[in-house]
This record gives sequence, C-alpha cells and structure tokens, in this order.
Amino acid sequence: MPELLTGKTALILGVANKWSIAYAIAQAFVREGAQIVLTYQGDRQRDTVRELADELAPGTRVMSCEVTIQQEIDNLINALRVERIRLDAAVHSIAFANREDLSRPFVETSRAGYQMAQDVSSYSLIAIARAVAPLMTAGGSIVTLTYLGSSRVVPNYNVMGVAKAALEASVRYLASDLGPSNIRVNAISAGPVKTTSARGIRDFSKVLEGVAAHSPLRRNTDPAEVADAAVFLASDLGRGVTGNVIFVDAGFQIMGL
Ligand code: NAP
Repeated sequence: MPELLTGKTALILGVANKWSIAYAIAQAFVREGAQIVLTYQGDRQRDTVRELADELAPGTRVMSCEVTIQQEIDNLINALRVERIRLDAAVHSIAFANREDLSRPFVETSRAGYQMAQDVSSYSLIAIARAVAPLMTAGGSIVTLTYLGSSRVVPNYNVMGVAKAALEASVRYLASDLGPSNIRVNAISAGPVKTTSARGIRDFSKVLEGVAAHSPLRRNTDPAEVADAAVFLASDLGRGVTGNVIFVDAGFQIMGL
C-alpha cells in the first residue's frame, strides 16, 4: 500500500507518554512515511519524549514548547526556520485544567481556573496556527483534538467543555483565515480514551463504561482510530476538508439515550 504522508513533515505537540493520543498520531504519521518533530513541555518531560522519539524514528527532532509562553513558541519556530524545515502538518494535542475544576460543580469554577483552561487548551491553537502558517509554504493541515463535552454536558468535564467549545469555534475562524493559503484547519472529536489527562476527570471510568454500553459500535475508541483520521486530514485525501469537527467516537455522539 502506498504511504500517504511520504515527503511531508509534521510538527506534533502533546506527546507525554505512550498513552497520549499524540503518540498514536506520531506512530501513524511515521508509518505513512512522514518526518515528524515532537515537542515537550518543561525539562521534566524532555528525556521521556526524547526516548519515545527515538523509538518512533531514530533522529526525530525533539524541541521544547510550553504553549502558554509566547517566547517558547517563537523559539520553536525559529529553530525550524533555521533548519529550513517546511511544515506540511501540525497536530495540536494539548489541554489542561486544574484538577479541582474537573471534579466540583461547574458553577464553582474560579476565574483563574477558567483562564488557565482557555489559555492552554484553546488560545494555544491560535498561537500555534499563527506560528506554523508561514512555514507551510506548500499549504498544510492543522489538526486539533476536541471532545463532545464542548456541546453536551458531560459530568465533571466542566471548564474543559467550555474550552473545547472555544477551541472548535477557533477551528472555524482559523480555517477561514488560512484557507486562502491552502492551509486547512480541523478538529477530531475523539471518544474517551484512558490517558494521563483523562484520569484527572472525576469518575472518568464511568464515562468509558457508558460509551461501551451505548455507542453504536458498543465499544470505546482506540487511539489508533483517531490517529488514522489525523493521517487522512494531513494527507492529500483530506484536501477538500477544512473547518470541520470529525467525530471518531464509535458513533456515540449520534445517540439521544
Ligand atoms: P495527554 O497524554 O495527557 O496529553 C496532553 C498533553 O498536553 C501532554 O503532552 C501535556 O504535557 C500537554 N500540555 C499540557 N499543558 C501544556 C502546556 N502548557 N504547554 C505544552 N503542552 C502542554 O492526554 P490526551 O488525552 O492524549 O490529550 C490530548 C488531547 O486530546 C487534549 O486536547 C485532550 O483534551 C484531547 N482529547 C482527549 C480525550 C481523552 O478521552 N483522552 C478525548 C477527546 C479529546 P505534560 O504531560 O508535560 O503536561
């Protein structure tokens, strides 16, 4: 079978460990012939991500990027520019909210907690899109990860649901701005996956049980399925798709009960 991403280079933000959705995406991109660049947040993660990068493809570049610090984003882009790297795809697989905001009633969300969730989980997509667009000189594909909690109430998803709503709206505005440069911007709405971030949501295992019991496919989402949708969007097969939220969730989002 021909590789779908041969000749393409992708920047992937959000690999923390082997359970990260971004890791599954990195695996699929490498399988399809892409060159990848991974980022990590803070020195604590550097060695882990370096090891994962070498396992994925020896020599894979690993760079620092804490998305709430503009200078870190600028440094990342400057380093890519110095190396004359043309980007064809960028994957934004990043989110954060304070743990207490994912367990207490939503009405008790603090101003600081709200701003933190928005900054890391939503605004960062805009900052990253603005930074990578000039490197996408042959057009490109920007993909972010979202969740059904953006438009439906999912217990304890709370402030993250509001951040995801803003993220999905940002996808549409970015798609409109960047479309004339042949840069497409889409979100994949993944079904719940047991990752480090997801474990921060109180009673997350109940969400997994509910999806397995009620989704049309009667099972949960495999991160590899999310990754294959990201491959589609990054490849020329996705060339007509922009501004969309594509659900990879075993069909759960269509159900009323
Ligand atoms: P994950 O493995 O914990 O990935 C989250 C990533 O965000 C980590 O690499 C984390 O880095 C990074 N991050 C957090 N704050 C950051 C910051 N300020 N600067 C740079 N990086 C930062 O969890 P995941 O589930 O794969 O999450 C990836 C994306 O998928 C998120 O947008 C999430 O909302 C979305 N999603 C997840 C699910 C699910 O059920 N798991 C479902 C739908 C959508 P550190 O670990 O170093 O903090």
